[in-house]
Amino acid sequence: MSTIPSITLNNGLAMPQLGFGVWQVADDEAATAVRTAIESGYRSIDTAAVYENEVGTGRGIREAGVPREELFLTTKLWNSGTKDWSGTSGRDAVLREFDASLERLGTDYVDLYLIHWPRPMHGSYGNIWQAFEELAADGRAKAVGVSNFGPAELGHLLGAGSLVPAVNQVELHPYFPQQELRAFHAEHGVATEAWSPLGQGKELLGEPALAKVAAKHGRTPAQVVLRWHLQSGVIAIPKSVTPSRIRENFEVTGFELDAEDMAAVASVATGRRIGPDPTGFDWN
Ligand code: NDP
Repeated sequence: MSTIPSITLNNGLAMPQLGFGVWQVADDEAATAVRTAIESGYRSIDTAAVYENEVGTGRGIREAGVPREELFLTTKLWNSGTKDWSGTSGRDAVLREFDASLERLGTDYVDLYLIHWPRPMHGSYGNIWQAFEELAADGRAKAVGVSNFGPAELGHLLGAGSLVPAVNQVELHPYFPQQELRAFHAEHGVATEAWSPLGQGKELLGEPALAKVAAKHGRTPAQVVLRWHLQSGVIAIPKSVTPSRIRENFEVTGFELDAEDMAAVASVATGRRIGPDPTGFDWN
């Protein structure tokens, strides 16, 4: 079984560089998918309140029978519970949402708690982030971070002695490699985590440039893309409900992309996102 490298977050916590994502997995399918992933060797699971599968995810974790402390569990705060981002009620709303996530997951802590989506049009993050800092301080979230933040939104948190987010989880794949944001993260000690690391498994995996690298190593295009993430220092969380793909996506060690391979993967970049631009997008 593969030994997946870890990234040391800015608070010293080790996070596996490869995890398992469960967006768009129905709650009643999530337990089987998560159990299959853990049995295949994954030790990091990424869910969110808004995925509405925290119950199934928690059940899958328990069914797999691996001790909780050997797993790295991420969930995320959705916006709806925190409509009043700038008011004092923001802090209390976050703590309520967090407790509800723990209850659904059936655990008493998470390894990483993220603000799922920035809402620059709804004011400052002060009260929200204060609650995240409290959760980090009391250990109910071993690390805290954000998702879909750009440099401007990160800038709000990086000032005034606030806790530096451990992670920013953003859209990132060979089509949209986020080089500038990654450099910004590196400067500030924020780890980069890639969502849709396989470009949602569509055109990207059919790119001839990837097929060539895959053939050279006797691997699949998905394995090459995940290897590219790992060698780029990025944390990747591919999703699949197909057992053979769950296993395939975990078998990404035991080969190395050389500089030419890395350049071939990077050559497919288009600079286009699959998802919306988070900084201008309001879900509510
Ligand atoms: P991925 O890039 O992980 O692609 C998933 C898709 O690719 C599925 O349709 C899957 O099909 C298919 N697939 C998986 N493995 C393979 C393979 N080896 N060969 C061919 N096809 C494959 O996309 P996601 O958007 O799901 O992103 C991954 C995770 O990132 C999410 O599950 C979630 O945890 C997180 N995320 C976070 C967001 C955020 O705002 N913070 C936004 C979006 C995602 P199948 O399942 O049928 O096998």
